[in-house]
Amino acid sequence: MVKTIRNGISFTESELVARVPDVGDGGKFVEVPLVQRIDPIFGSRARFIESSKLMPETKPDTSELNSSIGFCPFCPENVDLVTFPFPDEIVPTGKIRFGKSLVVPNVMAYSSYSAVGVYDTTRHFIGIDEFSPEIIFDVLSAMLVHARFVRTFDQEVQYSSVNANYLWPSGSSLVHPHMQSSHDYVPLAKQATLIDRCAAHHLETGRSLLTDLVAAELDGARYIASIGSVHFLAPYAPSGFREVWAIVGDATDLIDISLDSTQALAEGIALVLSAYSKWNLASFNFALTGGGNFGAKNGFNPLLRIVARSNPDIQYRSDVTYFEKMYDEAMLDLYPENTAADLRQMFDQA
Ligand SMILES: [Zn+2]
Repeated sequence: MVKTIRNGISFTESELVARVPDVGDGGKFVEVPLVQRIDPIFGSRARFIESSKLMPETKPDTSELNSSIGFCPFCPENVDLVTFPFPDEIVPTGKIRFGKSLVVPNVMAYSSYSAVGVYDTTRHFIGIDEFSPEIIFDVLSAMLVHARFVRTFDQEVQYSSVNANYLWPSGSSLVHPHMQSSHDYVPLAKQATLIDRCAAHHLETGRSLLTDLVAAELDGARYIASIGSVHFLAPYAPSGFREVWAIVGDATDLIDISLDSTQALAEGIALVLSAYSKWNLASFNFALTGGGNFGAKNGFNPLLRIVARSNPDIQYRSDVTYFEKMYDEAMLDLYPENTAADLRQMFDQA
C-alpha cells in the first residue's frame, strides 16, 4: 500500500497482481496488474482492472423515448392538472417556474421536505446530448429557490441536497427528465460522512477539506478546469463510470450558492453530459450535497458528483454488482486521469 499525502489529503493506492488462466494460450496462468485506491474524502474504494471492456462500444437507441408512451405527469397536457402547489406558508407562489422548468412538491414521501424539478415541461424527452446550460441553470436555480424557502420556513431542517436520476438504469421511474431534492432533519449517509470529514479536517487544520482537495489536485492529472469559483475534477477513486466532481468554492451550503456558481455548475454539467454522449453513455445520476447549518463553521463547500450508469439497453448489465452494492468498491477499467484528460479538452474549447 502506498500512501501519498498532498496538502493534508491522503491518496492511498495498492498495486496488486491477479493470476488468471489465459484463454488465448491454453489456460496458461499469467499475471495481470490490478490497482485498488481509497477515496480520500469518503473512504470508499475503487478497483481498476485491465482489458475488461466495461464501457459500451455503441450508442444505445433512445429514439422511441421521444414519443410519449402512456401517461406522463410532466408533459404539457397534464402538468398543470396533476401537479400541486406547495403550501402558501412555504412557497408564496405555490409552484416555482424559471424558463421552461417547473418545481412542484414530490408526491413520493422520501424526505421531510422535497421537491421535483422538471427541466422542461414543453417536451417529453431530452437526449443526453441535448441538455443545454440554460435548461440545467433554470431548473437548478428553481430548486435552490425552493431550498431557501424550506430552510427559511423550518430552520430545524438543515440537510439539503438536489439530486437526479436519468432513465431507468439510474433509478428513474419516469422518462421525462426531472431532478429531486431532499431537505431533512437528518443527513443522507454520505452527506453525514462528508460533513463529519469536513468538520474533523477543519478542527484539525482550520482549513476547508474540499478546498484543500482542490489545491492538492490543481494542475494534476485529475484536475479538469474551473468555471468561476467552481472547480471540476475526476475523483481519485470513482464510485462508478466516468465520475466527475464539482466543488463550489464560494459557498458553504446549497442555500448560499450564488447565481454565478449555479451558472458554472450548469455549464459544467452540460459539458459532462455531452461527453457522456460522445462516450456512448446514456444514463446518469448526480448529487449536489449541502453542508447543513454549520457549513460555514466546518469549512464546508457544496459538492456535486455526477456519474454515468449502465446504458438502457436490452442486454442490460448493471453497473452495481456485489462489489459496488455490498462492498462500496467500484470495479472500473478506466482511470479518472483518462476521464480528466478527455474532459479538459472539452472544457478548454467551450
Ligand atoms: Zn412527459
